Amino acid sequence: MSSIRTRFAPSPTGYLHVGGARTALYCYLFARQSGGDFILRVEDTDEERSTEDSMRMQLADLQWLGYEYQEGVDAKTLRDRGLFGPYRQSQRRSIYREHADRLLKEGKAYYCFLTDEEIERQREEAVRAGRPHQVVSPYRDWSLTDAEKKMAEGDVKPTVRFRVPDLTREYAFHDLVRGEVKFPSDMVGDFVLLRSGGMPVYNFCCVIDDALMKISHVLRAEEHLSNTLRQLMIYEAFGWAPPQFGHLSIILGPDRQKLSKRHGATSVNEYRERGYLPEALSNFIALLGWSSPKSQEILSMQELVEQFSLDRLHPAAAVFDEAKLKWVNSQHLRALPHDELWHQVEPFLVRAGLKLPEDAGWRDRSLQVFKTSMEVLSDAVELYRPLAKLPLQLNDEARDTLKWPSSRGVIEEWRAQLQLCGSAAYLSEAEFSAIQDKVKTNRGVKGKDLFMPIRVAIVGRPHGAELKILVPLIEKSTLIERADQVLAL
Ligand code: GLU
Repeated sequence: MSSIRTRFAPSPTGYLHVGGARTALYCYLFARQSGGDFILRVEDTDEERSTEDSMRMQLADLQWLGYEYQEGVDAKTLRDRGLFGPYRQSQRRSIYREHADRLLKEGKAYYCFLTDEEIERQREEAVRAGRPHQVVSPYRDWSLTDAEKKMAEGDVKPTVRFRVPDLTREYAFHDLVRGEVKFPSDMVGDFVLLRSGGMPVYNFCCVIDDALMKISHVLRAEEHLSNTLRQLMIYEAFGWAPPQFGHLSIILGPDRQKLSKRHGATSVNEYRERGYLPEALSNFIALLGWSSPKSQEILSMQELVEQFSLDRLHPAAAVFDEAKLKWVNSQHLRALPHDELWHQVEPFLVRAGLKLPEDAGWRDRSLQVFKTSMEVLSDAVELYRPLAKLPLQLNDEARDTLKWPSSRGVIEEWRAQLQLCGSAAYLSEAEFSAIQDKVKTNRGVKGKDLFMPIRVAIVGRPHGAELKILVPLIEKSTLIERADQVLAL
């Protein structure tokens, strides 16, 4: 087992968000680079909000991103199977119970019989008096025997509360991203470890798991900074050395508010469906809170692994700029070998119902032409649509063009010349130009009277498409069929 062990610990209560993906990426990069272990633990103790579907989706997203973990739920290679599992918190309840019992026995935690109403009353009083609310439990000083007697007597369901040892002591730790972090001494009162039904709370499970799973570095969202105080207290109570913590920069939308649904897509899955490449998304999110020592903006996964370091994580808020993400994606997309790019593009074309030639040479030529016009994979759909074996969809402008006096003759000549032009399946760019010239001479038309009807017969609209690029990618037989379709109107 390596001494560097990181973990990503998602709660399966929704999609994997880009913020979560960034945490996972940093943990993955750091572990890979240092020959360490990356662990995936599922924090599903919130029974009401956790779902199996969400867990499966998050695992699928991590797999798509390529952040392979050595240990964890569904790990491919379980180097230490059995030693630290199970990796789902819902399957670890007896472990938490055992540890709670230990703290109860040692007097570091106690059964608390306060009801929700009593706690609410305390809170209201604190608000009235203008002081911060902390639970003050009269059961703090009860002995375990007395508490157990009370439990034996009646139908009571106590919580297990942590007995905060010294409310005046200052807790501080060195954060990997933020440096020295100090907590005000009276920030927390005695807090719950096990709820009244016996369900453990996040802070408790997290500490026990991180300690038992021998996690050395905890990288996580900034919002967990305040939990760290409670967690440090729990480590101390067990006599365990805490891991090193790093709380990552917050991610903001373009309006500098915390990134949320309001800003558009926030889930990894949405970006996947919109046609972003996993390496591009990783590249982009890596730069939200970290920068390359070589000031590189475009980095492959391999380069990220090589260049990543904790000391370049910065605490300043990062702004999620979708335009930049698109640009990063377009750069990765262009750099892909064509067979790989086709593999990525194809599902989008299939989903759009486009039937396209299967030969590798054609694919290669078409990608050469189109790849610089694609920012996301789904852009391929509109680029490839004119090439598909589909009848033309004529718009109104196209129909108007066909009404011009010379249009029909131009298209008849275009079709005739196509038929005369060799036996190859496709026209070359030069052949296409030559045919246009012949139509021009034979019919005595030029300018838009020439080009627009031909364009309508090829793509169904009089404007837009660069024909000399498109035509060599459309089978001659399809061009003839389309001319016939237009002439039959
Ligand atoms: N389950 C927590 C979350 O999803 C993990 C927090 C942690 O990494 O400690 O936010």
